[in-house]
Parts: sequence; structure tokens; C-alpha cells
Amino acid sequence: MKKHETMHGKNVGDAVSNIPPTIYKAATLASKLVDAGSRLVVLFLADTHREPTVPKDKKHGWWAVDRIFWGHLEHDRFQSGVVPEAKGFKSSMRCHHFVGACEDKALAEKPGPLLVRDGHCACPPCREKNYSKCEQKRNVGPMRKVYTPLVQQVRGAQTMTGQLEEFAATLHARQLLAVRTPENSFWLARTMGRAYEAEKDFIHSGNEIEAGWLVVDIKWYDKRGGHYVLLGAVLPLIINTAIRVGALGWERTDNGKYYIRNDTIERIEAST
Ligand SMILES: [Zn+2]
Repeated sequence: MKKHETMHGKNVGDAVSNIPPTIYKAATLASKLVDAGSRLVVLFLADTHREPTVPKDKKHGWWAVDRIFWGHLEHDRFQSGVVPEAKGFKSSMRCHHFVGACEDKALAEKPGPLLVRDGHCACPPCREKNYSKCEQKRNVGPMRKVYTPLVQQVRGAQTMTGQLEEFAATLHARQLLAVRTPENSFWLARTMGRAYEAEKDFIHSGNEIEAGWLVVDIKWYDKRGGHYVLLGAVLPLIINTAIRVGALGWERTDNGKYYIRNDTIERIEAST
């Protein structure tokens, strides 16, 4: 499936996860009452949206939805807990499947271990946590065990803000920035000037930015195979999302194509 530029770094789950809120919004606008509670909500969704709006044979790509199955997990299947902030592990940006290897909540709040692998799998052995028998091992990679040491808490939020301000003060135009993404990966950006404080609350490209937040205008680099190209749009970036990894640079540029060294990528990955 060809990835649209605005879908950069995302996957099919983002689009599918929009369906329930869209149905909810439509019901609200039509003043329809929806009963509260997971089961009743799922019944409402199933009743309202039994089939994909556009049939699969009218769409391109194997990601197009064929049939819809609605379901839910009872709340007592979940246990809530506070997971302390931990350091990353090597090549964490490639991993999309994480399983806490510890069933004791108190122990789980200590440093790991964590089972990780590149892709997610829900084959029968994996659903039983029998990962060594995974039927998709070739596609999702083997499970491996990693440890994630806890971040040493220094002097609380005050220190964090001070560090962020210090970092913001070092920014200037035409710097190469690595930016953390929700998928634990990174994007690259070029700064267009110095950092500034947002004067009022605003929303830009789906990002809510509050007054007082430190922001810098950037242009994104888009990955095209083995190189990057600079995109045209100038966007405000919340500086807190930048990875503080020291000075970054391109290995070389050639006719609008930017090339990055592997060890630079590894350095960024080690800091995500
Ligand atoms: Zn599997």
C-alpha cells in the first residue's frame, strides 16, 4: 500500500480507530441517546455500523477493511498502575510489541524485564504467551528480553523546565532536529529560527499548543528510501518533543537529497 505523506509514520490502526468516535459524533449531532457502559456502547456501534462504508472491492490495498467485528473487554480484565519513567533500550524504535514479563504489580514497577519484538502478533501461540512457537516469527521477529533501568528522578519539575529552557535557548535557524513520535520512533526537522513562547492557545495540524509553551518553527524532512527531502510547509513544533541528543548533522547532501550516517541514527535511537 502506498503511504500518503500525511500518514508518514502511522499505520492502518489510526484510520480504523476513528470509526467509533465518528459514529458517536454523528449520533450526538442527530440527538440520539447512547446508553453508557462498554457493552451497550458496543451494541450501539454494531447496530449502527455493521459493514464498512465503502466495500473492500471498491478500495485499493490489502489494508482495506473487509468485515467489521465489534467486541469489548470487560473493565475487570485490566489493572491500573503507575509505570515509572524508564530509560530506553537499544533499537527500541523498531519494536512495536511490548509485553511485561512480570505478573506481580509491585515487581513490574521495578526495572523490567520486558519482552519486546519488531511487530505485533496475535496468532494462537502468541495469544497464550507461547512466543517461541509463534507462527509469524519470520514476519514479526523473535521476542527478546530487555531491561529498562528507571530514570533517576532529580529535582522535580522545576529542573525539567530549566533544562528545557536551556535547550530552547541553544536553538537557531537551519539546525537539524530529531523529534520523538508517538510510535517511539523519530522524525527529522529543520529549524527555521529561534525558539519562542506561544502567546495564546492554538491548534496547528492537530497539535494543541498552549500559551507559554516553548515552540520553534520547523520544516519536516520526509524519508524517501535511503535519503530525505525537505518538505515545504513551515509548522510550529513543541520543543518538548525534540530529542536532546547534541549536535546532529547530515553525512552529505546532493541535489536536494539528504543522507544520514547510520551511527547518527543509532545515536538518536539510543536517546528516544
Ligand atoms: Zn505469533
